[in-house]
Amino acid sequence: MKRTKIKALLNETTFGKEVTVMGWVKTFRNNQFIAINDGSSIQNIQAVVDFNHFEEALLKRLTTGAAIAVTGDLVESLGKGQSIEIKVKSLEILGDSDAEKFPLQPKKHSLEFLREIAHLRFRTNTFNAVFKVRHALAFAVHQFFNERGFTYLHTPIITASDAEGAGEMFKVTTLDFDNTPRNDDGTINFKEDFFGKATNLTVSGQLEGELAALALGDIYTFGPTFRAENSNTTRHLAEFWMIEPEMAFYDLENNMDLAEDLLKYVIRYALDQCAVELDFLKSRLEEEEKQKPQNERSELDLLSKLKFCLENDFERITYTEAIDILKQSKPNQKKQFKYLIESWGADLQSEHERYLVEKHFKKPVILTDYPKEIKAFYMRQNEDGKTVRAMDILFPGIGEIVGGSQREERLEKIEQRMAEMHIPAEEMSWYLDTRRFGSAPHAGFGLGFERLVLFVTGMTNIRDVIPFPRTPKNAEF
Ligand code: ATP
Ligand code: MN
Repeated sequence: MKRTKIKALLNETTFGKEVTVMGWVKTFRNNQFIAINDGSSIQNIQAVVDFNHFEEALLKRLTTGAAIAVTGDLVESLGKGQSIEIKVKSLEILGDSDAEKFPLQPKKHSLEFLREIAHLRFRTNTFNAVFKVRHALAFAVHQFFNERGFTYLHTPIITASDAEGAGEMFKVTTLDFDNTPRNDDGTINFKEDFFGKATNLTVSGQLEGELAALALGDIYTFGPTFRAENSNTTRHLAEFWMIEPEMAFYDLENNMDLAEDLLKYVIRYALDQCAVELDFLKSRLEEEEKQKPQNERSELDLLSKLKFCLENDFERITYTEAIDILKQSKPNQKKQFKYLIESWGADLQSEHERYLVEKHFKKPVILTDYPKEIKAFYMRQNEDGKTVRAMDILFPGIGEIVGGSQREERLEKIEQRMAEMHIPAEEMSWYLDTRRFGSAPHAGFGLGFERLVLFVTGMTNIRDVIPFPRTPKNAEF
């Protein structure tokens, strides 16, 4: 089989040569004009058939969704909307598509409807664009780290450590539920299980990442993570992809610089490589926003928002400063927040994060030095005894996109914090060994890949930026 991809043809300027294109019929108009898409671009190519030269029975099979191969000469198009078209000499149906039953008609479908037919939604322009951008971002992530000499580390997906995600983990077992082996006290005897102990799907590769960073220097992971949190929001998935760099000899400042550089680098890459897709997604968002009341629409269009992000330094403030701003904010004074900010120590909800980013600073914000009570045991403790060297990056429309910290490298300090938080140090001795043998300052963060794709594509629901979303009560396809 030999074919030319449509994307390559659309840039062609020499006419007259014979080409073969294979793709799916988008529309067939006036018994003459076939719009063909092969996925290489969201743009179609027009193929023109002279209906006098083809069997009517064959032309009838040119229905939306059918897969076809056409061979013909590339000619200059006289019609509006394209500069090039194919004058068809031969036409073959590769796979019929029953027009009565094919769910994607050449009209606008709601994203909700498309989610129900996620196996077919790749055929739409919107999802073509989204997944092209997703690919570009993934590629850019690897390129960014590769250029900086980081090692791509594959951390395990099945893990026996549950220090981080108590209650949020999916269990991995081969035990027979109808006949579970029990201990004398009635609890399940995991010694009989596949691994001889209780295991889960990972919520983060960080702890293993630290082990490698304290030998290889700079590492990053990029893999699936799983959270059994029952949060049915537009920003949470039960299965999502996370990028987790971990660097030896880094403090929080270095960590913030790297995260900001990474975000700007991958956004710039997408702007450079996905101009057609982002332009389409910009218009899509504009259409969607027309449904909203004026005051809820965004001030910037998608492309301006992305460029704005590149051109401005992220605002860096401490949690304590953020609390002061929030306390004095209008929605807090007027009791418009669902969770009012009353005192220092409160965990920030997404409404607060979005207020800081979208209303107050109007740009990405990095919040640092959170109260230790609301952060994990491994974050480096500050001299004040109250806060830790944490950083969260907040993005407009998204809220938290990155969570990270400088890690606690002092053995006594981390052991003391683990004891306070009832984390069994014996089970974590492999992790603590890094602090026993040549401990060093180090830092890292986790970037939620789908939240990044959400931001760059301007989609509004995280279910629409991963091919097959897993959410509570939903694991279709
Ligand atoms: P949130 O408060 O938004 O639930 P988190 O504090 O649980 O986030 P972390 O544990 O710090 O998040 O995870 C690191 C990053 O992974 C987050 O900044 C976010 O980008 C992403 N992330 C976390 N949970 C999810 C999820 N359920 N679905 C998609 N991305 C997620
Ligand atoms: Mn969470």
